[in-house]
Amino acid sequence: MKDPAAVRADVRQWVGEHWDPELSLARWRELLADSGWGCPGWPKEWCGRSLPAELAVAAASELAAAEVPGTPEGVGMSLVAPVLLEYGSDELKRRFIRPTVTGEIMWCQLFSEPGAGSDLAGLITTARADGGVWRINGQKVWSTGAATAEYGLLLARTDWDAPKHRGISAFVLPMRQDGVDVRPLRQMNGHQSFNEVFFDDAELPADNLIGEPGGGWTVAITTLAHERRLAASRPGTAPRNATGRAWREAIEERVAAREPHKWYPQRAGRPDLVAPRAAEAGLDSDLVIRQQIARLTEATMSARWTAQRRASATAAGRNPGAAGSIGKLASSDIARQASRVHGSIAGASGMLASPDAPGDGVIAEILVSVPGISIAGGTDEIQHTIIGERILGLPKEPDASKDVPFREVPR
Ligand SMILES: Cc1cc2nc3c(=O)[nH]c(=O)nc-3n(C[C@H](O)[C@H](O)[C@H](O)COP(=O)(O)OP(=O)(O)OC[C@H]3O[C@@H](n4cnc5c(N)ncnc54)[C@H](O)[C@@H]3O)c2cc1C
Repeated sequence: MKDPAAVRADVRQWVGEHWDPELSLARWRELLADSGWGCPGWPKEWCGRSLPAELAVAAASELAAAEVPGTPEGVGMSLVAPVLLEYGSDELKRRFIRPTVTGEIMWCQLFSEPGAGSDLAGLITTARADGGVWRINGQKVWSTGAATAEYGLLLARTDWDAPKHRGISAFVLPMRQDGVDVRPLRQMNGHQSFNEVFFDDAELPADNLIGEPGGGWTVAITTLAHERRLAASRPGTAPRNATGRAWREAIEERVAAREPHKWYPQRAGRPDLVAPRAAEAGLDSDLVIRQQIARLTEATMSARWTAQRRASATAAGRNPGAAGSIGKLASSDIARQASRVHGSIAGASGMLASPDAPGDGVIAEILVSVPGISIAGGTDEIQHTIIGERILGLPKEPDASKDVPFREVPR
């Protein structure tokens, strides 16, 4: 088997032979998909090269170092495709993996409901088999990017007589149809990332079921584990000197894909802005502010080391276990600490949101965006429960509704 240096050399050679900045982004992504270098850890037959984790990490970092556009950002590549690779039929993989890698289709995640967020297994959106199709009725909420997605990764109840975790199935839902009504929601930070999604006899083909009927909970758990890792990761950046058609189209695509997420840096508390803001405000000699900044820096550095330890475990082929929950909790803690320091530095004027306010209004955006990081992808309390049960081995949280038919669970 090759070593990381040999794999890096292969990537450099392939890029040298195939990269042309004047290619369309779609054509470049087709080359990435067909060569397998876009997703080197995925199976050869599904746009990858079947490389073990350590070599896949080396290949991905070499591709990034070559300063060529990579695969698309978003839930399609990070959540849906890995789930389809693990649980989807070959037919689903054939229909959806390549167009996801090439960026032809965009996805959203249709999990949360008005009465089912932390208690996701209590969801009541229903899928009913009807001849050769499934009919979907119910409502989802907080569905990021649903207004622009072509497909949704849907959890729906298929059996009301099974206990709650065993009556759920996972599906690929075509979003652009009469039975799907997407209504945007406006958040307290002024952005409009989320949507309510209503299903009124929406239809999907029988073979859009992912895995077995009633096997949706396993798909959900896998998806959420990917999502926690995502919460602690950072999006890629384009090189400063990016030129040519492929980069132009990639940057346009990123701007559009990041539109619902453009406040996410503020959601993370912007610890990077704290020291420069203290200096600007003449408070970098203030003893209390200095203590706050030092504490924040400690938390940021130890979270980075924990993330690196997790990445090395993954690269070495070890299962990082519930480490994603620790990373997600650390992100929430850092965001809250950073927003407190920003508040201390800016004082009352930090509440002003106009462009002439402190930091062009970014401070106000931080203050109202930070709560979101403690909620998205599972709240802090739920991460504490996961750590208690899976790392500390504490007894499971009691759930009286766990083993009774879902139909009989009081709601
Ligand atoms: C930025 C962002 C993006 C999101 N994107 C999506 C998306 O694309 N798709 C999607 O499906 N959903 C999405 N969500 C929804 C998110 O997954 C839910 O908001 C989250 O799971 C919490 O559910 P809830 O809002 O119903 O709160 P609830 O579950 O009602 O929780 C309310 C409070 O009770 C606490 N609580 C609940 N149960 C327990 C318990 N057992 N023990 C201790 N405390 C408990 C919670 O911690 C919380 O403080 C997003 C949310 C955010 C903020």
